[in-house]
Amino acid sequence: MIQHSRVAQWLVTGLVVTVTLLVVLLLGWLRVVGASQAILQEETERQRDALERIVDSADTALQGATAWVGRNCSEVNGALQAEGTLSPYFRSIWLVSHGKMYCSSVARTDQAIDMPLPNELVPLLTGTRAIFVASTPYVRDAPALAIFVPTSATDGVLGFVDGVYLTESLHSVKNSNLEWTAMTIGKLSLTSEAPTLESASVATRGAQSTLTSELFTTSLAGSPSLTRRLIANYAPIFLSFGAVIAVLLGILTFRHLSPAQFMRRQIALGIKRNEFKVYYQPVMELATGRCTGAEALVRWHHPVAGLVRPDAFIPIAEGNGLIIELTRSLLKLIRNDVAKGALPQGFHIAINLAERHLRDNTIVQDIERIYGSLNDTYPLIAEITERYVIRDSAAARNVMAELQRRGIETALDDFGAENNSIGYLKRYDFNYLKIDKEFLPVTEDDVVTRNICDSIIDLAERMGMTIVAEGVESEMQAKYLRQRNVTYAQGYLFARPISFDELVPFAIAHAGAGLTTVKQVSATVTPITPLTQPKAV
Ligand code: C2E
Ligand code: CA
Ligand code: CA
Repeated sequence: MIQHSRVAQWLVTGLVVTVTLLVVLLLGWLRVVGASQAILQEETERQRDALERIVDSADTALQGATAWVGRNCSEVNGALQAEGTLSPYFRSIWLVSHGKMYCSSVARTDQAIDMPLPNELVPLLTGTRAIFVASTPYVRDAPALAIFVPTSATDGVLGFVDGVYLTESLHSVKNSNLEWTAMTIGKLSLTSEAPTLESASVATRGAQSTLTSELFTTSLAGSPSLTRRLIANYAPIFLSFGAVIAVLLGILTFRHLSPAQFMRRQIALGIKRNEFKVYYQPVMELATGRCTGAEALVRWHHPVAGLVRPDAFIPIAEGNGLIIELTRSLLKLIRNDVAKGALPQGFHIAINLAERHLRDNTIVQDIERIYGSLNDTYPLIAEITERYVIRDSAAARNVMAELQRRGIETALDDFGAENNSIGYLKRYDFNYLKIDKEFLPVTEDDVVTRNICDSIIDLAERMGMTIVAEGVESEMQAKYLRQRNVTYAQGYLFARPISFDELVPFAIAHAGAGLTTVKQVSATVTPITPLTQPKAV
């Protein structure tokens, strides 16, 4: 028996469901990360704009003071003081000459000082240079942004923007989405967290979004509450979506791996790998003992399960439609055997058709295409079992009529096995009636079965049908059938289903008169006696 594993079916289904859920959760997480990045990016731009407004305003004020550079401090001191007081953000403004700060907006004229410029001013494209400083003249330990607008290599205007404005701006930008924000120039940063300058590498560690503008870099990190909020937003969508997808895929996988689907794939694979073989059971003419034909019966040589009997797979192949393809491949095997020309001419080959074959004309076309003119010499008989209900009687009638028109006779197989036998006789025009083996009397005193069999034989005679008795196992049964003038019989008494190579000598040996043997081996009537059986399956 071909083994289907329930454990594997459940395991693979579980695996598919788990992997699907994990993938959907990963997608959900990526969505959260993406949304978080978009929010942080927007916040960084907002922060940059706020800081730029301060720096631009200061730069503009300093540009206005460049006219006074090089002039005597006492002359411009008043104007410089007014500029430093009226312009927002400034702690002080200085005129610079020969690299020295010589005049300030906060000191009196007679106290003009001579201070060196803050080191490491970061140059800007406009020529303006800037740097964070921890202290400014007169104000100790209070960070400021030094902005220098040069007028020549050594001269220019220097302004100190109070760090408080920048820190305030960083604070005002920060909201519940953000853990911290920072502004960096060179190696120093001001952050929303502390009023003092910090090393940039320490202050901006873990930054999740960074934007560099001409003068400075803004950076920030998202808050845990932002991530929590996004997870709360997306989790219901992704979890319900994931659950639906996982359940659907789980159902599909489970069905795909079900016993029926498993068998379907095994059968399809078997057809592709030519694992199906045809065996032939001789059909004997009871009155003469001649072998007038054979019934083709399929066997599956499965590479693992070994020899599989048709009852185990024919109903499945019928259920899923593969029977059409299977019969097609058997027809090719039969054609290859019969075309060797070794059988006596006129030898009948019976094939078994299923209910599916009667739904449309495919089988008629298949027979014509594959078996073709061989039918003139070795006529086919189509056996149609009444075990399965024949659904569409009009289509079925049409298929049978088409077959008969092409010289292919029809047989009602397994007569009596189901309760619709009589109905089929009424609706369809069969040439042969095959009495199921369960209606053959097993012993001399099996009166009930004998009565039923007698009635079936009477019925067939009245309907003008030729009778074939199936499953004849004893000489007693053969004798009874001969007494009742039954025409044909098949069964283990005569021969089991055998390979084509064994069928040929059997058929020749039992050809008798009427069938022309190719080699003319036997022209005499062979009496029916239990045979020495060839190797059979
Ligand atoms: P069936 O058409 O009634 O075929 C006769 C079955 O009875 C065969 O079984 C045969 O081996 C068995 N048989 C023959 N003589 C005797 C006997 O004296 N005693 C007993 N007890 N049995 C005997 P098999 O080959 O196993 O086939 C079983 C069924 O599978 C067939 O019943 C037929 O319905 C189906 N089948 C076989 N081959 C094909 C095929 O190629 N296509 C289709 N559609 N069905 C097939
Ligand atoms: Ca049959
Ligand atoms: Ca049968």
